Amino acid sequence: MARYPCPICGDLVNEELMYLHFERERWLVRRILEKHPEWVESDGACPKCIEAFRTMDSEGKHEE
Ligand SMILES: [Zn+2]
Repeated sequence: MARYPCPICGDLVNEELMYLHFERERWLVRRILEKHPEWVESDGACPKCIEAFRTMDSEGKHEE
């Protein structure tokens, strides 16, 4: 199986894991773009980064 470096953290991850969540989680794509404007969805991201962005709002900055 092909492995690619995650464009966000640089970890090598399996190709099919890179894109696992994006089709159902457009809000997550937008959130990643807020922090990484140069990132594009087709670059993918590893499960660790996806999880970090998914949980960000529950313990991160306050939105008013
Ligand atoms: Zn990553």
